Amino acid sequence: MNNQASTDPITQAVTTEEPRRTFELEDRGFREVPKKWRKFYRHWEGEDDWLGPNEIICPVCKVVIRSKRELRVGDRLYCMPCMSRMVVVEAQDGSLATEVIY
Ligand SMILES: [Zn+2]
Repeated sequence: MNNQASTDPITQAVTTEEPRRTFELEDRGFREVPKKWRKFYRHWEGEDDWLGPNEIICPVCKVVIRSKRELRVGDRLYCMPCMSRMVVVEAQDGSLATEVIY
């Protein structure tokens, strides 16, 4: 369990009463990070692409960050490809977005 927490992009999950859905991640060929972490990232594939409830786009490098857990507002994430830290926020349309933490 500790090992999982240290490799998942969620570095600090917001405390919530509701159970989260969990996801099985597969390697999508993202070669910019070491093999162990590849399944946590993928490239955005354009207009036909869509984000799952466990995925969010890094505002800095535009890579899709993927977690084993459903994302919630307040979660803190780490983007390994560009080394950015961010927090999940709610966008104006109600979807999830991120704000970079400096
Ligand atoms: Zn990034």
